[in-house]
Amino acid sequence: MSQSTKTYTSTCSYCGVGCGVKIHKAVNGSLQIEGDKSYPANQGMLCSKGMNLHYAAMDQTDRLLYPEMRGNRNMPLQRVSWDTALDRAAAVFKALIEKYGPDSVGYYVSGQCLTEEYYIANKITKGFIGTNNIDTNSRLCMSSAVVGYKLALGEDSVPLSYDDIELADCFFITGANPAWCHPILFRRLENHKAANPHVKIIVADPRKTQSCSLADVHLQLQPGTDIVLCHAIARRLIETGKIDQAFIDAHTSGYEAFKEKVFTLSLQEAADICVLEKELIIQAADMIGDSQAFISMWAMGLNQSVIGVNKNVSLLNLSLITGQIGKPGAGPLSLTGQPNAMGGREVGGLSNMLPAHKNLLNPAHRKEVADFWGVPAINEKPGFTATEMFDQLLSGKMKAVWIICTNPLVSLPDARNAEAALRNARFVVVQDISNKSDTLKYADLVLPAAAYMEKEGVMTNSDRRISYLSKVMEPPGEALPDVDILCRFAHKMGWKESFNYASNAEIFEEYTRITKGTNIDISGLSYADLIQRRSVQWPVPEKGHPGTPRLFTDHTFYTPTGLANIISVDSMNHSEKLDDDFPLILTTGRIRDQWHTMTRTGKVRKLNKHISKPFLEIHPEDAGIRGIKQDDVVTIESRRGDVRVTAILTEDIKKGVVFLPMHWGRMLSTDLTRTNNVTNNLIDPVSKEPDYKFTAVQVTKY
Ligand code: SF4
Repeated sequence: MSQSTKTYTSTCSYCGVGCGVKIHKAVNGSLQIEGDKSYPANQGMLCSKGMNLHYAAMDQTDRLLYPEMRGNRNMPLQRVSWDTALDRAAAVFKALIEKYGPDSVGYYVSGQCLTEEYYIANKITKGFIGTNNIDTNSRLCMSSAVVGYKLALGEDSVPLSYDDIELADCFFITGANPAWCHPILFRRLENHKAANPHVKIIVADPRKTQSCSLADVHLQLQPGTDIVLCHAIARRLIETGKIDQAFIDAHTSGYEAFKEKVFTLSLQEAADICVLEKELIIQAADMIGDSQAFISMWAMGLNQSVIGVNKNVSLLNLSLITGQIGKPGAGPLSLTGQPNAMGGREVGGLSNMLPAHKNLLNPAHRKEVADFWGVPAINEKPGFTATEMFDQLLSGKMKAVWIICTNPLVSLPDARNAEAALRNARFVVVQDISNKSDTLKYADLVLPAAAYMEKEGVMTNSDRRISYLSKVMEPPGEALPDVDILCRFAHKMGWKESFNYASNAEIFEEYTRITKGTNIDISGLSYADLIQRRSVQWPVPEKGHPGTPRLFTDHTFYTPTGLANIISVDSMNHSEKLDDDFPLILTTGRIRDQWHTMTRTGKVRKLNKHISKPFLEIHPEDAGIRGIKQDDVVTIESRRGDVRVTAILTEDIKKGVVFLPMHWGRMLSTDLTRTNNVTNNLIDPVSKEPDYKFTAVQVTKY
């Protein structure tokens, strides 16, 4: 680098791996990206998305530059000043709250928001508006894992670090394709196995994905049968004595009931339900049982399910009955989809949570938070979750929604229902960076936000690592950091004293104070410390504390008894039913080089080269009986809508199952490439996470 180039450190803003980057900025403003060799998560490596971060940042051709508003949806949006825009937002919110109560409004935010932004949005909503109607698109990807961890371990807490990967000798990857979706973790896994060929890798997925390239065993199970599979593995572990009875006796509760549950099906019966060979289940179970250090990894394949919580606890049980937790190279490692989904949860950015993982249903916790914020009380009623919020906009119970950094008309299930909800809403605020967001069509007020690299802030990745992201460049036009927009709005609402921050540091340090004494205590961390240290894993309870790479090392869990809970769950799937009209199971997911709804990665030519258009994966036998050939245009139809894309025939997908990528929204002025036209609106009853991975569909040649 030339001497005139300035280097900044940051964290990749795409997936939850949270890779460290160095951003080199030349005097002419051009940027170069380099993986940070000193950063623990990635050790200098970057995937294709991370390597192209700077192209997405430098291309500002699609950016929203000025606040805009309109009197009604038949009028065009018109440029206004920030004062006019936020005066209108405050006037409408005040009027609706006065007439219909605080629950008539809400915020829908994002796992890509920075921690400070999340904290302020949460404080405005729960503390000052007086509703808990703030939820995040992390609800769509992680909430089942959150509930699973809480039920089993007593807290939403990932017990291990990425550095445990190199210490493990067996991995069970289920409902995840890290080769494409968490590529740097997968590369660490590849390197580890290459150096240690005895390391065993088991992959469970109805598709033979790129991650299977590393698998010793691929369990190509029937969608919806994950619990049956985990129970069968548990049964085999118990039958062969490959459990840790001493650990179970001393540190867990619920084992006997669980044992009884898993013995209700024989291995053959379980194999038949999963449509797997029994021998493969035995091989997988024996690999886990023989392991000295076992890690499970999972993502949306388990979480995005109508039984997502039950799938999570059935997987966590495997770590608990084998005593593979709280020790080197062991534990359940959920793979977070978004870069700051964990940070959002830490500050309470879900409609049923309070900051520092305090419990909304606990009166003492509500009082602590109310006193801390200087407000009379926190509303005791949980707010609407992501999909519920849109249902309530449609029903008219909610009148206004403020959408920050997310594109729900592409990402929510049953997207046409979400579209009808926004059409019906009285007032929609869209705070975003891109003029390509599909929600703009329904926006009454548009607020231009600063993007990644245009603001400083904090995120937490999948292994509890809190990191500081530098500001590298100025936002274009009049765009402002989200946190500034939110604080300016709070001032307009008359809450100036409580939102009068001189800096991001003040916001972050206010949040750290409320964590004191909790399981996620970071009260020992100042902003200056974090900038200087670059990153640290929580808890950090006192100044100078080195951070906490591994939890539960003394096998005391965060439950009231200190025991981990081995939870017996039913294995029945409650997804929508297949029938003659809709006989195929649709599952959805990501592709390697695109991120979410493509507003950033879609701008990068190199990334569009990998896969340039939406497609349907279908087994040749399913295609054959429908007269479908390679590259034919096909219609995918469900009970809610339809999608039209090109067919790819492949034996890598299980017969009876089809796959659509999630990324594409409207193309060529039609919504027929939008995958979520067909997905269903069933949700897990506890986590409220949608059932994206199981929709009954029919496929026909167009
Ligand atoms: Fe970014 Fe994730 Fe790729 Fe790392 S693995 S560079 S965090 S997208």
